[in-house]
Amino acid sequence: MAAPILVTGAAGFIGMHTAERLLDRGETVIGVDNFNDYYDPALKDARAARLEAREGFTMVRADIADHERMLALVRDHGVERIVHLAAQAGVRYSIENPFAYERSNLAGHLSMLEAARHNGVKHLVYASSSSVYGDRPLEGSGFREDDPTTDPVSLYAATKRSCELLSQSYAKLYGFPQSGLRFFTVYGPWGRPDMAYFSFTRKIARGEAIEVYGEGEMARDFTYIDDIVDGIVGVLDHPPAQGGHEIYNIGDSSPVGLMEMITTLEDALGAEADKVMRPMQPGDVTATYADVSKLNALTGYKPKVTLAEGLPRFVKWWRGYENG
Ligand code: NAD
Repeated sequence: MAAPILVTGAAGFIGMHTAERLLDRGETVIGVDNFNDYYDPALKDARAARLEAREGFTMVRADIADHERMLALVRDHGVERIVHLAAQAGVRYSIENPFAYERSNLAGHLSMLEAARHNGVKHLVYASSSSVYGDRPLEGSGFREDDPTTDPVSLYAATKRSCELLSQSYAKLYGFPQSGLRFFTVYGPWGRPDMAYFSFTRKIARGEAIEVYGEGEMARDFTYIDDIVDGIVGVLDHPPAQGGHEIYNIGDSSPVGLMEMITTLEDALGAEADKVMRPMQPGDVTATYADVSKLNALTGYKPKVTLAEGLPRFVKWWRGYENG
């Protein structure tokens, strides 16, 4: 039987879906999560319960920054591949809570690098973020992996770029194959309540006002969760050669304005939003737009689900979840 795959952040949004996909294809998966209370712990418990009901899945409640524990976990289970998704996410939260990012994103990433290095791991795939590209206007073409990443506008972005640099140095020093994935605004069923599409859904359905930042001028490359998982699993199956470290965008490659996203949500909910316009918040960027040609060349990746298809799927899930 193939060695188990370690998925960190398995009680998180992307982690749960990734673990499910791996289980679907017959892999054995060990999940790690510290179930922190950054958002609704009941949602993390519900995701974990879904996974724990599956054969071949084990959840370990641990902090990834505990490097001795991570080292032992990878060693004792003979883990050969790691999908490292655990992190403190959120741009705005990082301004108020910098040390949460130091622990989960910096110490946590280093801990996974050490665990991989000392145990002969064959491929470490880890989450980065579109935020590393900084604040750029929307232009005719998407952000490419070799574009400059020297001007992070949030602490979150700075920690994500730091993870890429740590990985680059480990690839040079110790040679185990690594792939970093820059995700672009991921949405879908079992998503994150701190993200705009989720909190807007709740508020519009309850008749509460929504705060629209950037006066509605922002645009995001909203990417449906199944497309993100296609990208993750595709990359996992295509490790770079020994000593290699590659970075890939995973996005929808078709940015949508915030106002259009809200209209799509209103249609899906059958209700009109009471919008309060607000200026851009510190740490926010104007637009994101993924060029996915590098990933396409590796795996044939093509995003399949448009925002107009994906948001109604989210709303349908949310209604079921809200009603227990
Ligand atoms: P999430 O918050 O739902 O999942 C992250 C999980 O990691 C959570 O369950 C959390 O409890 C866990 N975690 C955090 N710190 C930990 C620690 N120190 N030890 C153990 N577990 C810990 O977020 P997500 O949206 O699923 O994001 C997954 C990854 O993708 C993150 O690295 C995030 O930065 C990155 N990312 C997400 C998006 C997006 O739009 N969702 C975009 C870009 C990048």
